[in-house]
Amino acid sequence: SKRARLDRFISVKTGINRKNVRLLLAKGLVEVDGDIARNIDQIIDEFSDVSLEGEVLQSNSPSYVMLHKPVGVVSATVDDKHKTVIDLLTDKSKHDLHIVGRLDLNTSGLLLLTNDGRWSKKLMSPHHKVGKLYRVTLQNPIDDSYVKAFAEGIYFEFEDIITKPAQLALVDSHTALVTLVEGRYHQIKRMFGRFRNPVIGLHRISVGKILLDSQLTPGMSRSLTAQEISL
Ligand code: URA
Repeated sequence: SKRARLDRFISVKTGINRKNVRLLLAKGLVEVDGDIARNIDQIIDEFSDVSLEGEVLQSNSPSYVMLHKPVGVVSATVDDKHKTVIDLLTDKSKHDLHIVGRLDLNTSGLLLLTNDGRWSKKLMSPHHKVGKLYRVTLQNPIDDSYVKAFAEGIYFEFEDIITKPAQLALVDSHTALVTLVEGRYHQIKRMFGRFRNPVIGLHRISVGKILLDSQLTPGMSRSLTAQEISL
């Protein structure tokens, strides 16, 4: 994420050379998060408040949003054909947000957005193995043989990989709950493709301990709680 040395940050932001930035620091004219900063090698990040002689150089607050993504809306920040998930948000700083784990156009459910790159990186990092839970509706009946195949992993020829162990639970003859710890392109559809069984409905219920709020109808969003943000 965007960490920088204080003197360098100020110099880049203002065009004042490093030597003069040091003088300003020594004079006590720089504040970081409300305190006078004198250390040239203090490390700041994108959410540190920085001011110089009372003038704000940076002031960003971290923001974390859950959206109930409807079918037919694209998980991108810009698109010329479809409405995007950003179009659905009301946040005034929504254009600073990035998507944490996209969903396909015809997938609905929990989509997370943030401006905190360190947080999203952690959530998506393969070795954190954050489970993503989906409800899947299939065209043809499913049975116990799927459970074993999903647990063992399915070979994806294009990437030449075997999918990580995924949990599959049968809900009824045409519905399953699937938990993935990774997110390959069209992963669930391709896993069922192995059985020549088309996915006709796909909905994400949760990411790690963050559950889609049942109060949110498709298209609605809210900020995450402190509990949900803490990983
Ligand atoms: N798997 C898919 O195939 N699509 C999604 O949107 C998510 C997981």
